[in-house]
Amino acid sequence: MVGEELKTPRRRYWRDGKHNQEDIPGDLWVKCTKCGTMLYKKEFEKELKVCRKCGFHFRLNSWERLEVTVDEGSFVESDCGLIPSDPLGFPEYKEKIAKAQSNTGMNDAAVVGDATIEGYPLIVGITDSEFMMGSMNSVVGEKITRALEHAIDRNLPVLLISGSGGGARMHEGLLSLMQMAKTCGAVARLRKAGLPYVALLTHPSMAGVQASFASLGDVILAEPGALIGFTGPRVIEQNLKIKLPRDFQSAEFQMAHGMVDAVVPRGNLRPVLAQLLEFVNG
Ligand SMILES: [Zn+2]
Repeated sequence: MVGEELKTPRRRYWRDGKHNQEDIPGDLWVKCTKCGTMLYKKEFEKELKVCRKCGFHFRLNSWERLEVTVDEGSFVESDCGLIPSDPLGFPEYKEKIAKAQSNTGMNDAAVVGDATIEGYPLIVGITDSEFMMGSMNSVVGEKITRALEHAIDRNLPVLLISGSGGGARMHEGLLSLMQMAKTCGAVARLRKAGLPYVALLTHPSMAGVQASFASLGDVILAEPGALIGFTGPRVIEQNLKIKLPRDFQSAEFQMAHGMVDAVVPRGNLRPVLAQLLEFVNG
């Protein structure tokens, strides 16, 4: 179930969005939120928003993510006319959606479409943590499902990039929860069609998204330092009255425990993805 579908033409776009770095007056410098180093903005952007001193990977919004991942100008968005509704009349939900839409320029928390990486065609889907923490509602679940179905129709591999700290969006109740099963069903159909699915987990990849399609990739990659899991460490510690390791749920911890195949620094992502695509294209 989705809100409404508008007849919006497919668009090609790059745009600047809000970033999570601290901007310094003059707009020339950015302060690393982890180590405090002042980074010259032009260099920082050239280094794909990774701190040159401590390696901290700043969060990217969907448009920045596309810029660093796919071939320039190759992305064509699909299903961009899907917009959320308020099926339960949840208090202040409409206002929250309107605010997120105005802050991000997105209709909802997912962007899907087709693109190429080093010339290899694929379907790409992104959940963007800047829109209501990337939580999964009817629109996000529907877009991810359609992305997987487009891939089956067109015999293409899929890359789904998750960034979600919000899990299933409570404002849509069960309609959000059912997206977990729906997206998993679509992944199963993709697998049955013999098509590969690469999951890229970015900070944070938690809760309902991680407990559904994001953890089902044939190959699961993660960015360094990304928080990956279902329930956050504080809740687990409080409930179970235990002390967790400091790096619990980091990408590196998950790789050491078999949940992630490789932790790939952002600068190496394109070559690694191109290599995987070359492999599956035989
Ligand atoms: Zn740093």
